[in-house]
Amino acid sequence: MNYQLLINKNHPICEETIHKIDLVPIVERNMVFYLERKVRKKYLKLKKKVFHKAGIIIAIDSGYRSIEEQKEILSEIQKEYGIEYARKYVSQPYKSEHHTGLAIDLTLNINGYYLENNYELEKHITEFKQIYKFLPYFGFILRYPKGKENMTEISFEPWHIRYVGVKTAKYLKKNNQVLEQYKKKYL
Ligand SMILES: [Zn+2]
Repeated sequence: MNYQLLINKNHPICEETIHKIDLVPIVERNMVFYLERKVRKKYLKLKKKVFHKAGIIIAIDSGYRSIEEQKEILSEIQKEYGIEYARKYVSQPYKSEHHTGLAIDLTLNINGYYLENNYELEKHITEFKQIYKFLPYFGFILRYPKGKENMTEISFEPWHIRYVGVKTAKYLKKNNQVLEQYKKKYL
């Protein structure tokens, strides 16, 4: 698996790549999610660390998505938040990192409850910032940070993390770069 695989508006994933991904199930909150094998392992370590060091409980809100699921999510978000919001936050089928099994949308447990939507999550940036400190050690990056929208073409998403491998994650964090810069593929 190429953990630095770039998937965005200009670089859609192909069916052949999707079929090669080693996806494994992970059960949380009585739901089954799928992640790439190594990403599952690293995510569980991250989760443990974040809980022990910062007392924050994280969980998966979205992991791997098939092309069909991406189509459904796009139409659901359009209905719930409007077309303009969906355009800013939800990728078109084949153009979502969630097809790789390398991306995770996180949710947080606050006072015993898991946050249920993006608006609630956006109110907990303080907690997210604590989580971000631990990401590189487990090979994850905050994929759509503030101030890089011109390169990622996705608005700031505090919940979306992406596995790229420890070395790359540390490099990106240290140099304040997004994957598009690392791969030198931005307009
Ligand atoms: Zn996401």
